[in-house]
Amino acid sequence: MVVPYKHEPFTDFTVEINRQEFEAALAKVEAELGKNYDLIINGERIATEDKIVSLNPSNKEQIIGTVSRANIDLAEKAMQVADETFTTWKKWKPEVRADILFKAAAIIRRRKHEFSAYLVLEAGKPWNEADADTAEGIDFLEYYARQMLQLSKGFAVESRPFEHNKLSYIPLGVGVVIPPWNFAFAIMAGMTAAALVTGNTVLLKPAETTSVIAYKFMEVLEEAGLPNGVVNYTPGYGSEIGDYLVDHKRTRFISFTGSKAVGVRIYERAAKVHPGQLWLKRVVAEMGGKDAVIVDKDADLELAAQSIVKSAFGFSGQKCSACSRAIIHQDVYDEVLERAVELTKELTIGAPADFNNFMGPVTDQKAFDKIMSYIEIGKEEGRLMVGGTGDNSKGFFIQPTIFADVNEDARIMHEEVFGPFVAFCKANDFDHALEIANNTEYGLTGAVLTRNRENLEKAREDFHVGNLYFNRGCTGAIVGYHPFGGFNMSGTDSKAGGPDYLLLFTQAKLVSEQL
Ligand code: GLU
Repeated sequence: MVVPYKHEPFTDFTVEINRQEFEAALAKVEAELGKNYDLIINGERIATEDKIVSLNPSNKEQIIGTVSRANIDLAEKAMQVADETFTTWKKWKPEVRADILFKAAAIIRRRKHEFSAYLVLEAGKPWNEADADTAEGIDFLEYYARQMLQLSKGFAVESRPFEHNKLSYIPLGVGVVIPPWNFAFAIMAGMTAAALVTGNTVLLKPAETTSVIAYKFMEVLEEAGLPNGVVNYTPGYGSEIGDYLVDHKRTRFISFTGSKAVGVRIYERAAKVHPGQLWLKRVVAEMGGKDAVIVDKDADLELAAQSIVKSAFGFSGQKCSACSRAIIHQDVYDEVLERAVELTKELTIGAPADFNNFMGPVTDQKAFDKIMSYIEIGKEEGRLMVGGTGDNSKGFFIQPTIFADVNEDARIMHEEVFGPFVAFCKANDFDHALEIANNTEYGLTGAVLTRNRENLEKAREDFHVGNLYFNRGCTGAIVGYHPFGGFNMSGTDSKAGGPDYLLLFTQAKLVSEQL
C-alpha cells in the first residue's frame, strides 16, 4: 500500500533557517563545480575527447561542469545496450519499477536544496523557481510510480460466459528522451521516469546547457537500484546524435520537450520508415506557447497586474507557459498597464545565487540575441514602457520588458520570444479578447481574470488552450493537479503529470482465452 499522492511543498524562504540551509547547499555545490562528467552506457563511464562545457548563465566565467559528448559510434553502442536491456527490463514487475521511482524521490527529497542549488547555478534559476523545479521533479517520480501501480491492473473488459478476456498495457521498446533546459530537473526527470516505469529503456540526451543536473539524476537512479542499461546518459548535439537516434530503426518512441522548430523536425523525421524498421514510431512532443492573460472589465485589477507580471517574468519568461500577451478590456486597459509597469519597475534583476534577486539571466548567448532582436521588433510594433535593454558582459541579463498598444496582428503577438517580454493589446470587449487570444498557432496556457461568471463560462468553452486558469496567472502547473500540455503547435496533446500520460509509453494487449 502506498499513501495517496500529495504534491511536494515549496520551501518557505521567509524562514531564516531555510535560507541558511539553502546558502549551505549553494556553497557545497559551488565547491564541486568544474568536474568532468562521462557518458553512462550500461552503467559504464565513458570519457570522450569531445566535450560540452556547461556554464553559469549569470557568470560566463564559471564552469559548472565539462561533459563528455557522444558521437555516432557511442550513440549506436547506447542504442544496442538499450535494445538488449529492454528484453529483460520489460519483464521486471511494475511494483519493483515503481519502487525505484519512490526510492529516487526519497533520495532527492533528502538532498533537495543541493539539486536546487545546481539549478540556480547551471540553469540561472532564482531560489524559489529552483525549489519549485526540484519539487516538481519529486512530484513526477511520486505520481508516475503510483500511476504505474494503477495501470498494471489494466482496464476491465467484458468476458462472455465461454471466455476470459484480459487487457493489459505493455511497454514499447527503446525511447529517445530529449528534455528541455528550462525545467532542467523536473521535466527531464519526469520524461525519463514515465518512460522507464512503464518498462521501456531510455537514451537520455539532456539539453546541452543543463547536462550536469541530468548526470546528478542518473546517479540518483543508480542509487535507487535501477539496473544498468535501462537509462543511458548520452549528451550530444541535436544535429549529430539527436538526428541519428530519431532516425534509428530500433527507436520505438521519441519523447521531446522544447521548441516548435525542433519538435516539428523530430515529428517529420520520425514519420519516415527506415529499412528493417518494424513499427511506426510514436512521438510525444511538448512544444511552445504564446500564452495570453485576458483581463476583463470586471476583474480585480490589482490581482490582474500581479498575475501578468509574475507569469511574464518568473524565471525570465523562459517557460512555455509564460504570459507573453496581456489582452485587456479597453475600459481598464490604462489602469492595468500602468500598474503592471509599476510592479515591473520594482523587480530586482541579478545573479540568482543572491536570494534578493527576483529575476536572473536568460540561458545563453543565442537566447540573449534572439530576445534582443525581438525587442527591436517590439520598438517598431509597440510602445516601449519599461525594460528594453540587455547586458551580456558577465551573464545574459535582459531587463523585464513591456510593450504597450500592440496590434493583434503584430509579430510580437504571434511569435514565441521565450524571454522576459510581454505585449499589451487592447480589446474592445470580452468576445474580442477571446478572439485575439485564440488567434495563434499555439494553444498551451491561458488565464482569464474576471468576476463575470458568464464570461468565465464562455472562456471555459471557447478559449482553446490545454491549461486554462481563472483568476490567477498562467504558469505553475502542479503534477497531478494541473496535468500539463497544449493544443495545436504546442504539442501532441499529451498531458504530463496527468492520469493518462503513462499510456503514451505503452501499447495495449488483449488476451482472450476460450473456456
Ligand atoms: N509546467 C510549467 C508551468 O506550468 C511550464 C513547463 C515548460 O515551460 O515547459 O509553468
